[in-house]
Amino acid sequence: MNTSDLINRVPASATISMAQKARDYKAKGLDVISLTLGEPDFDTPEFIKTAAKKALDDGFTKYTPISGLVSFREAIVNKFKRDNNLDFTADQIVVSTGAKQTLANIVLCTTNKDDEVLLPAPYWVSYEGIAIMAGAKVVKVKTEIDNDFKISPEELSANLTEKTRLMIFSSPCNPTGSLYSKEELYALAEVIKEYPNLLVISDEIYEHINFTGEKHFSIGSIQSVKDQIVTVNGMAKGFAMTGWRIGYMGAPLWLAKACNKLQGQFTSGANAAAQKASEIALNAPLDESYKMRDSFLKRRGLFLELLGKIDGLKLNVPEGAFYVFPDVSAFFGKSFNEYKITCPTDIVNYLLDTVYVATVGGESFGDDNCVRLSYAASEEQLIDAAGRIKEALDKLV
Ligand code: PMP
Ligand code: GLU
Repeated sequence: MNTSDLINRVPASATISMAQKARDYKAKGLDVISLTLGEPDFDTPEFIKTAAKKALDDGFTKYTPISGLVSFREAIVNKFKRDNNLDFTADQIVVSTGAKQTLANIVLCTTNKDDEVLLPAPYWVSYEGIAIMAGAKVVKVKTEIDNDFKISPEELSANLTEKTRLMIFSSPCNPTGSLYSKEELYALAEVIKEYPNLLVISDEIYEHINFTGEKHFSIGSIQSVKDQIVTVNGMAKGFAMTGWRIGYMGAPLWLAKACNKLQGQFTSGANAAAQKASEIALNAPLDESYKMRDSFLKRRGLFLELLGKIDGLKLNVPEGAFYVFPDVSAFFGKSFNEYKITCPTDIVNYLLDTVYVATVGGESFGDDNCVRLSYAASEEQLIDAAGRIKEALDKLV
């Protein structure tokens, strides 16, 4: 039996595939350090777990409204106001099974075949996978490490057409850790407002992992473009809740209604007890999130210092998230024994096979020069990994 055209054209998630490969190597007894998955290595804060247990005891074991519990959506409305200066009503909020589903809902509800989806590259792998699923045409706009992988208003303007339906970006960014400043977002908004049919997905799931010392700024709070922005967020990164599968968006009402309709035929809504626990988390002070951020900041410093000692790696300083995205193109054309390096994935395979460090090649993020390393790992693991990477890369000639 054949599978559908839709599933045949969708690429598998490279981040998840690499994480699985690392697990498979470990299961064989190999001493693998996995820097693959974008997942905080912390456990969910205790007060959130307690809230989930109580939610079960209180009977949150049934279907919720498709878009989410009213009390949770109200907590999200308050969160958007408190942290992001965004004004929504509860009917503009849709809660989903992870931000990944939120993104899929939006893309499926807004794009027709051959509509253009603009992705400043590098971008998170699933933006492309979801756009392909929808049958849209992906337009990649390459950005440079020397510009901290950020798209300029000129580059955006040069790549928008009357067929551009969506632009999707994350700030702080997966895979680069880059963060757009308020001024940079205002400059992009000047371009966006010239294209009234353009909808922009602002993925802010790494909002709380921000090292600039400044408050996170949401492009949706800019009045001239607010009706063109859908703000996506979730519990996974800032609250160490990846496995709980709770994501959400604040959107124009027409889009929230469409996503509600789609979700009603797809999942019926997110897990009830996880929603209740997330509500408690959003209503609480952010102390636990800030503790995790401070720990990521310390690890960023350590990892950058160690990687900085490796000849041939070109690094920038990521201002958020927990990734570094070094340019490894200086190694292209080099080799060691049977390992010939021509692209990032060759580096990834070489590191995994020879020193058991698992990473993800830039290609699946739309970049042909870099490799993504997640530093959501212990300091001991980071020191060990950096040593192994240096040992392997120093051998390439
Ligand atoms: N957006 C970005 C930028 C991500 O890195 C991720 C990774 N988890 C998601 C969305 C999806 O998050 P969730 O686990 O809530 O589906
Ligand atoms: N978003 C994370 C990553 O980029 C988790 C895996 C995934 O959802 O693709 O690694």
